[in-house]
Amino acid sequence: MHRVLMETPPLATEDLAEAERLDALNRFDVIDTPREEAFDRITRLIRNIFDLPVAIVSMIDGHRQWYKAYEGLENREVSRDQTFCKYTMQDLMPLVVPDARDDARFARNPMVTAAPQVRFYAGVPLRTTDGHNIGTICAIGFEPRAFSQRESAILSDLAALAMDELELRQLASVDALTGALSRRAFKERAASALALAQRHKHGLACIAFDLDHFKSINDNHGHATGDKVLAAVAAACRGLLRGTDIFGRLGGEEFALILPHTDRAHMGGVAEKVREAIERIAIRNGGTAVPVTSSFGMAALDARTGDIDALLANADAALYEAKAGGRNRCVAWRPPNDAPAGPRRRVLKAGRILFNNRMSSIDCTVRTLGEDGAGLDVTSAVGVPETFSLQIRSDAFETRCRIVAQAERHLEVEFC
Ligand code: GH3
Ligand code: MG
Ligand code: MG
Repeated sequence: MHRVLMETPPLATEDLAEAERLDALNRFDVIDTPREEAFDRITRLIRNIFDLPVAIVSMIDGHRQWYKAYEGLENREVSRDQTFCKYTMQDLMPLVVPDARDDARFARNPMVTAAPQVRFYAGVPLRTTDGHNIGTICAIGFEPRAFSQRESAILSDLAALAMDELELRQLASVDALTGALSRRAFKERAASALALAQRHKHGLACIAFDLDHFKSINDNHGHATGDKVLAAVAAACRGLLRGTDIFGRLGGEEFALILPHTDRAHMGGVAEKVREAIERIAIRNGGTAVPVTSSFGMAALDARTGDIDALLANADAALYEAKAGGRNRCVAWRPPNDAPAGPRRRVLKAGRILFNNRMSSIDCTVRTLGEDGAGLDVTSAVGVPETFSLQIRSDAFETRCRIVAQAERHLEVEFC
């Protein structure tokens, strides 16, 4: 189905280049994955070698800079238009800003004028072998500083090391903290199970779940307790599974299950058992009990679901409904004949939310896309109106949308 194809402007080469860059980033399947020691080691090295307070290994998607590893910062992402790194991305060379207050590009940046008051920045793009800059590594200071050629060369080598790690991690199949399959291994195993189910015409269900308010668990009880919770959730889940079930960690506190030989009628029972087991987890931080709950989305394989990405996207959409419905619950995805939502593909595209007569816009990353709806990541859902136009310039796509579910940084929309 073709939505309104934009009449003007014609497709700009930079939109196409950006679409190719996002495809390259998508191939690494790294956005929103958990922290990993290999990358934490690189940020530690940067801090120690250069004696600077902040170091980041980051990826840049449609709307934000997301940190795979970071030292010396609170948040794990920042909106794209605020980053220094967007300039680094445009180049092959290291970008060095000895004093941000003296640099017209940065002097008025909120990171410079207000907390954390960045003064020094050195960044190098993370460049794929086929020439796309998918992210950056950078060192940041709160005092002006020089950066020698030798230091630039070291930072460039560390960027190359980060790229090597990104290539290597594709091979790792098990997540160290939880023992669950890594996202890539999960998807590979899930794809084979799905092909088998399609060939032999047996049922298969996918359950995606995401811990509720996990950020508050980290904030209130510390990151180490958060890690304990993640390990306990994985153990509780594994205890309930059959040997043929496939269990993966798809992101920080986001897991998924593939249940071969399980149909729509039975998937709810499994999800409910896992939900109850997670609710019973008794982790204590000192004298305080840490409450743990999780929200579940379920989707069964049907004739219209072509591949694992589509199945996961359906489960994800149901998961967002579970979050919007109050969390700590299981919701089944409704197939298109009894609900408006049609099948989706998982994608990574730069989008723009237009409203207020096109006078206001908010960048977003389109994560799922179907004929009648989409899933969008945003820096904050606050201020996004109930209805708006979604524009995907690289696809010359624009359509009116209505929000059907929303979380802090995610919107599920249907096209109207
Ligand atoms: P919601 O109920 O909407 O899912 O809220 P939430 O707070 O769980 O979701 P959000 O996505 O805002 O926060 C997820 C948090 O998970 C933020 C991130 O720091 C944390 N996290 C991700 N990976 C890890 C990890 O490996 N260990 C720990 N301790 N925390 C992690
Ligand atoms: Mg969560
Ligand atoms: Mg999450």
